[in-house]
Amino acid sequence: MNAPVSHPPKLEVDPALLEGATPFMAQYLTAKAGQPDAILFFRMGDFYELFFRDAEVAAGALGITLTRRGKHQGEDIPMAGVPVHAMEGYLARLIRLGHKVAICEQLEDPAEARKRGSKAVVRRDIVRVVTPGTLTEDSLLDARGANRLAAAAIRRGRAAVAVVELSSGAVDSVACGLEDLGAVLAAFRPSEVLVTDRLYGDEAAKGALDGSGGVVQALAHALAEPQAARARVERLYGVGSLDGYGAFEEAEVSALGLIAAYLETTQAGKVPALSPPRRMGEAGFLAIDPATRASLEIDRTQRGEREGSLLHCIDRTVTSGGARALAERISRPLRDVRAINAQLDAVEWLKDRRDLRRTLRETLKASSDVARATARLALGRGGPRDLAAIRSGLKTAEITGGLFVGAFDPLTAAPERIAAVLERLAPSPELAGLRAQLTEGLVDEPPHLARDGGYVQPGFRPELDEARRLRDDSRRVVAELEARACADSGIAFKIKHNAVLGYFLETSAKAAEGLLRAGPDSPFIHRQTLASQVRFTTVELSELDARISQAGHRALAIEAETFESWRRDVARLAQSLQATAEALAELDAHAALAEWAEEIGGVRPVVDDSLCFTVDAGRHPVVEAAVKREGLPYTPNNARLDGSGEGCARLAIVTGPNMAGKSTFLRQNALLVILAQAGAFVPARAMRLGAVDRLFSRVGGGDDLARGRSTFMTEMVETAAILVQATERSFVVLDEIGRGTATYDGLAIAWATAEALHGTNRARTLFATHYHELAQLETRLDHVCNLSMKAREWNGELVFLHEAAPGAADRSYGVQVARLAGVPPPVVERAREVLGRLEGEKAAVARLDDLPLFAVMEPPAPPLPSALNEAVRALDPDSLSPREALEALYRLRSLAH
Ligand code: ADP
Repeated sequence: MNAPVSHPPKLEVDPALLEGATPFMAQYLTAKAGQPDAILFFRMGDFYELFFRDAEVAAGALGITLTRRGKHQGEDIPMAGVPVHAMEGYLARLIRLGHKVAICEQLEDPAEARKRGSKAVVRRDIVRVVTPGTLTEDSLLDARGANRLAAAAIRRGRAAVAVVELSSGAVDSVACGLEDLGAVLAAFRPSEVLVTDRLYGDEAAKGALDGSGGVVQALAHALAEPQAARARVERLYGVGSLDGYGAFEEAEVSALGLIAAYLETTQAGKVPALSPPRRMGEAGFLAIDPATRASLEIDRTQRGEREGSLLHCIDRTVTSGGARALAERISRPLRDVRAINAQLDAVEWLKDRRDLRRTLRETLKASSDVARATARLALGRGGPRDLAAIRSGLKTAEITGGLFVGAFDPLTAAPERIAAVLERLAPSPELAGLRAQLTEGLVDEPPHLARDGGYVQPGFRPELDEARRLRDDSRRVVAELEARACADSGIAFKIKHNAVLGYFLETSAKAAEGLLRAGPDSPFIHRQTLASQVRFTTVELSELDARISQAGHRALAIEAETFESWRRDVARLAQSLQATAEALAELDAHAALAEWAEEIGGVRPVVDDSLCFTVDAGRHPVVEAAVKREGLPYTPNNARLDGSGEGCARLAIVTGPNMAGKSTFLRQNALLVILAQAGAFVPARAMRLGAVDRLFSRVGGGDDLARGRSTFMTEMVETAAILVQATERSFVVLDEIGRGTATYDGLAIAWATAEALHGTNRARTLFATHYHELAQLETRLDHVCNLSMKAREWNGELVFLHEAAPGAADRSYGVQVARLAGVPPPVVERAREVLGRLEGEKAAVARLDDLPLFAVMEPPAPPLPSALNEAVRALDPDSLSPREALEALYRLRSLAH
């Protein structure tokens, strides 16, 4: 049930708007003024009513009837309504369409209001604003995906992302360079992103924000002002200073401040229990920008579907919490070698213990979603069933902990991550106390809602038993009374009950004729005459009725009080409960990866600080599963790169006909990097990986027409991002750069890009191209090699071997592929003819070699540090007074030559 809440200060409402409004309308308009951009659900008895524009919007979106209710300032008031019991479904649809919904509840019984006078309006207030990032209801959420609210801010040339997940109370904060904002944001896959209106107005930032996939909410710039933001965050946590949680950069404080402000308004002052912000340096995670994420189909395919993604292919978790933990692990792989190996240790340990793993998975399967149940209860939105979920989760935690007793070899320590999980599973005395209470006091299968009672066990609270006995005994006496009334009067009475009359005796109009004529001495007192029925009561029945309703109310009140005390305990223990839930989820994820590793014959990758990338017989997990479903074999492939250029090349040029498996090969190797750094085993015979800092993939692009960019423009924007950001530690896969423009243009761009990646960025790179001319780079540059996807012509048919072998492709087989694709024979024939002619003139292309463009260019030297440059860099325009600014200008002028 929604309790009354303390509320942020009320907005002033324009008096002109309220002119001539009825008291009821004035109440509505005042509430609406507080949330002008949300659709207002206004509680009236069993309905939420919507008025004015909200009613029209909702009627269109939900297909509900639009009516009118009275007039305001001479105009009809449009109205539409949804029944309270069906509200969640309507809510879900509006949220999915991108609306915010404000819920305005009745805060008192209408009977209370009537006591203040017949015209008094029931007290109402907004108790919550429902937005995509702040949902907690199971029916509105995807059980296997996290629901996150993010905020992004930029201050002093640094960016930051703050993220909160209301369902777990987890808060993360990441500071990063401006260029990484998009990657960091996308890694969290938020449903909603808060920014200031000013930042959203910036074209470059807008791209990063829109690329995150969440609904963007632009808030007032003032909310991100560091001092006010800091104060708000401190208030959210109830601490005097944020410094105790870490030394936050200004941008982080601004981002956290936006979240605090948004929670204050949307949760109407009822702020959830949140964990202190976890600070994650950008150095902690493998950076994957949104374009790379989309191209690699990590947790969604490019069409937005889950099926067909890497995550869907490898997910063997058995709980929804585990599924969320695995999704997180795959979307945000680690960068730190030690941390990665700790994860791998846990997976390997469970992989080697098949029986334990099987029992563990069976046990976890029975557990419930403790994280979400806890969050709902802590936010005051939970019910008795959520308490049962916590009870069952705590039981699972205990059984799970027990499974590991004796599982460790006394001579070797337990893997660090497993030990850490088990420590969190050991119940604190307080959690044990809560569990005992719930085991003793909560019925086995409680109802969803607390409203109607019936969830406290008999024997748990004597006064409740007493009230229930009174209520039930009296009900039995009522039943006896019916028999007695019939016997005494000789009339066939039935005792019935309704909300208006309470209990009454009912008989047919004919049978009642005698009674209606009887004098005042008759024990049967007339209450109501209907068309064919007449209703009576007796003194005894009214007394019983009063007793029953009193006892019933009392029983409900005791149950409600018991529920509230449990709820408070849960809220108080929310952090330990969330830690338990996280521990179970982490175990599920480790065990699932172990299970998958066994299923596919995966191998533990060697992850270290080198610049190596060596894969023996690697496979693309998703494509392999797909071709196997067709009954076809998958051809494993080797790959070998080294950033240091020692022993093998840093950059491989991959050529081969279309359909030969180039993009599969490229993506496969990028996915192996992700898997290895997520602490998963990989589908390969062996793999060694020097941990990667940033992963870039540009394979097979589509138009980004929504943002008004052509394929070529999108490709160039993404290539630019790679050339600016990739480092010696990065891993780059690029497919067919320059395809979208004229041949020489495209070739020139591809050539220059390959050169820069090799010489300037020095990133490990797989560079697929259909410009065979690029194969010459092998001989011209030190650390380049050629790979080609093999194909053979056999009996006039083209056969793809899907095998990456050293050397460049001899030809592209484009005409053969066109024929395979069903291009009509005359066109194919004509193409062959033209090709023959062109090949005869091949000398023309060979002459390219002599163009200065393709002579290897030295990468430009980085600009030398100059005094002027240094002085400009040291300036912080935000903190200068006008006078200081003028002085700075003179100083700069004197430095210029
Ligand atoms: P390209 O990028 O060269 O045009 P793709 O990588 O898209 O080719 O591969 C085309 C198809 O070939 C894939 O959809 C898949 O069915 C198949 N394929 C690719 N690589 C392999 C492989 N290693 N083993 C088996 N089949 C493969």
